[in-house]
Amino acid sequence: MNRIYLSPPHLTGKEQTYLQEVLASNWITSAGKMLDEFEAMLCAYTGASFALATNSGTSAIHLGLKLLGVGEGDYVICPTLTFIATANPILYLGAKPIFVDVDAWGNVAPEALAEALAYCAREGRKVRAIIVVHLFGHSAQMHELITIADAYNIPILEDAAEALGGTYAGKALGTWGRVGVLSFNGNKIITTSGGGALLLPTAEMREKALFWATQAKDQAPHYQHSEMGYNYRLSNVLAGVGKAQMEVLPVRVAQKREIFEKWRIFFQKYPTVSFLNPLPLPARSPSPPVPLFSLQPFNPSTLLPPYPSTSNYWLTVALFEHYEMREKVRLSLEKANIESRPVWKPLHLQPVFAQDIYIGGRVAEGIFQRGLCLPSGTAMTDEEMQYCFKNVF
Ligand SMILES: *Cc1c(COP(=O)(O)O)cnc(C)c1O
Repeated sequence: MNRIYLSPPHLTGKEQTYLQEVLASNWITSAGKMLDEFEAMLCAYTGASFALATNSGTSAIHLGLKLLGVGEGDYVICPTLTFIATANPILYLGAKPIFVDVDAWGNVAPEALAEALAYCAREGRKVRAIIVVHLFGHSAQMHELITIADAYNIPILEDAAEALGGTYAGKALGTWGRVGVLSFNGNKIITTSGGGALLLPTAEMREKALFWATQAKDQAPHYQHSEMGYNYRLSNVLAGVGKAQMEVLPVRVAQKREIFEKWRIFFQKYPTVSFLNPLPLPARSPSPPVPLFSLQPFNPSTLLPPYPSTSNYWLTVALFEHYEMREKVRLSLEKANIESRPVWKPLHLQPVFAQDIYIGGRVAEGIFQRGLCLPSGTAMTDEEMQYCFKNVF
């Protein structure tokens, strides 16, 4: 049996067709029809007004924070339980993170956000942006978070890198914040090999981000620059891969959900095992039509909580009774050449952020100790899944 990975790339075959098309056209750099089409597909699927494809999710976060005005000496609030790519761009901009604890699903806890904002107001620390992550594909409590952020008039950057295909109150994850971010890294639900995107509400924001992403060239026949820029644009070649992958996104979401269901049924006989993933909503139509979402501006106050959300079940995450049990399962899987990984180590415990402020309790630490990401690849065969089950204990 070959090694079973957490979430390896899953190609459709159609990538080759689009790649050949791109190569034949000779448009193989930072502009072209594939990029336009890929961005149009992202908008159609999510209901976002504008999309800008970048060479990674991390560079999209960097540009997104810059769009929100984050700079030297500012503070940015960030959940502690996330991949480090969420927080590194704060440092690129000379700003400082303030880490906050998470709720039972691993997302920014509204109480911790309120406490952090009150603390910053008291201490005179200028908070320029709030980052909200939809961890492992399931939605944060957006209504509560937006209500708190609005009270302080601070914009939200939504890191939906893991959550493309998920929704909150019927609206796509990634379209709730002033800026939304997606990732198409190889392990995400769909991939361009490496890549990302910004989802944006205005043409001006997209134009500014594109300007920064392509070396900040001023209008002139010669090379003229009055601002610092970056080389962050996605290649038209890779957009061809993205186009093929976008065509199967609804199928991938359904497959991820099925994998979660299988894990859930397997662990039913072990009452001490639970999941970080939310339970699926009652069955919907099997293949949701695209586009799913209204293009109208959305007013969250017209709906009453609790709002339904749908996860993309990017990774199935089991929660064991304690650390020792989690390690036992991880090592048992590893012995059978099956990859599993502890949940992200909280960022406030990382040496690189040792000097930064943390506000909250020990929820994130608990999830880190007890949580284990299980193989969730959509190309996994039934036989491979049975092999995983056989080697859990
Ligand atoms: C993958 C990921 C990113 C970064 O995306 P890259 O495309 O790998 O740069 C950012 N945030 C989260 C939460 C992620 O999981």
